[in-house]
Amino acid sequence: WKNAPPTLATLQQLVRAYGAREFTVYQDERVTYEANYRAVCHMAARLRELGVGKGDRVAMAMRNLPEWPVIFFAAVCIGAIIVPLNAWWTSGEIEYALNDSGAKLLIVDGERHERLKGCYATLSGVERVIVSRGKSELTQGEGRLEVLIGTPHDWASLEDIGFPEADIAPDDEATIFYTSGTTGHPKGALGTHRNFVTNILSSGYAQARTLLRRGEALPAMPEPKVCLLVIPLFHVTASSAAMMTLIASGSKLVFMRKWDAIEAMEIIQREKVQTTGGVPTIAWQLLEHPDRAKYDLSSLETISYGGAPSAPELVKRIHEEFGALPGNGWGMTETTATVTNHFGEDYLNRPNSAGPPVAVADLKIMSPEGDRELPLGEVGELWARGPMIVKGYWNKPEATAETFVHGWVRTGDLARLDEEGFLFIVDRAKDIVIRGGENIYSSEVEDVLYAHPAVTDCALIGIPHKTLGEEPAAVVHLAPGTSATEAELQEWVRARLAGFKVPVAVKFVKETLPRNANGKILKKDLRAMFAAEDA
Ligand code: ATP
Ligand code: MG
Repeated sequence: WKNAPPTLATLQQLVRAYGAREFTVYQDERVTYEANYRAVCHMAARLRELGVGKGDRVAMAMRNLPEWPVIFFAAVCIGAIIVPLNAWWTSGEIEYALNDSGAKLLIVDGERHERLKGCYATLSGVERVIVSRGKSELTQGEGRLEVLIGTPHDWASLEDIGFPEADIAPDDEATIFYTSGTTGHPKGALGTHRNFVTNILSSGYAQARTLLRRGEALPAMPEPKVCLLVIPLFHVTASSAAMMTLIASGSKLVFMRKWDAIEAMEIIQREKVQTTGGVPTIAWQLLEHPDRAKYDLSSLETISYGGAPSAPELVKRIHEEFGALPGNGWGMTETTATVTNHFGEDYLNRPNSAGPPVAVADLKIMSPEGDRELPLGEVGELWARGPMIVKGYWNKPEATAETFVHGWVRTGDLARLDEEGFLFIVDRAKDIVIRGGENIYSSEVEDVLYAHPAVTDCALIGIPHKTLGEEPAAVVHLAPGTSATEAELQEWVRARLAGFKVPVAVKFVKETLPRNANGKILKKDLRAMFAAEDA
């Protein structure tokens, strides 16, 4: 390669230089950068043999396994479009996304294989299924990944067959990631090579800004870290915001089979993990775990998250109880993850904020109609612009035209900016509670509830009211061994916020609130729960 265009193929060739450093760790499997590179080259060659070419969609549905980044890079390095599917989806949802994306190849792990094998025959367009780690007999049209490139233990000894030659430009399509489906059907966001690579620059700049503010020297290169990656790679927060940054600095990604607080603490202690997080609830579960003191978690330097609202309370506790710096970032699938980056002292000083935009992003606050920009400090719809914004939605020209306007993405989030450019998310436009014409932003009431010593999880939702339209109600989960009554929590809110914001009802739930795979509370399920109980 003559120069280094910002593509994922360039990135993969560059990070090969990290050689014998470990890239992924999963149970007893340790894959170095060199071994990962070789597996990518072999997988890419196999994909070509199977007829995958430029622009073809390759779908995969699997847990966070070492195969995940290999398949991801192999597909995009030959110009194909990788379509990571949500491994939590039902077979019906997976079928929907396969048809929507028109994938000709599907790669699944053993668990997905068991779940889906009955419907392979009806997957229109899918010519072949490749199973990684499958136990059952394979039928015609299926193949096994182990046969193609071996298991992760074998990758270091794969022959160096050279990197696949491919004609790829930075703005070529590389990914289709589906949105979380929090507000409706998941939409496929069509991302480019540049969208992904942009995340490296964004986080490097944010890190530099924090170090400079603290008067610390800037390292020539971002330092490699050990990261416990507990959120699924099929969401951009993990594969873009986290993996792109970590791979660029030669960091190590430790995967877990499935989130479990005890196992996470064991891994943190054993691997001397420096950074983890992903979504706020992970941080909460570590903080609240009764056995936390039994583990040495002193290696933790940062706990960062995004993707969902987080309580200011959490910021302080991460700092005080773990001695780690908290981090937050705002982004959406349509922005290939990071648009704002909030970290360290800045975050401790403004725990309600999602941070300032990264170096290459612009933000503005628009009227709900989208026809004028609002004055500084007012709440309106957040619009974002920058090289991380995807081209549009796959296969959805109308939704694309509505959401992507002259290089800006309309986010559907209600927010304000302060005079220093810090972003404050107040609600999703679809979740706002309007009580007789008065706007109630969920985050404001949720933050007050979180500040109550007994509350560890909560959500504010609107419930229908005949004359007012809607009234606010809260669903609350209390920390083990604590108690609080409905009246007490209503009093707590009344003492801190205007009367119309006080929840008219508080429902207590035994478990933490229902969330989707990306850590977002399923408010539509909570509304349904209220409706069902009142019927
Ligand atoms: P769908 O668009 O299918 O309804 P979704 O919007 O939940 O699902 P994602 O793209 O995964 O799908 O999530 C983006 C949303 O997550 C943002 O629009 C915002 O509401 C929320 N979000 C992301 N980061 C933050 C953050 N730091 N603080 C508060 N909310 C956040
Ligand atoms: Mg969305």
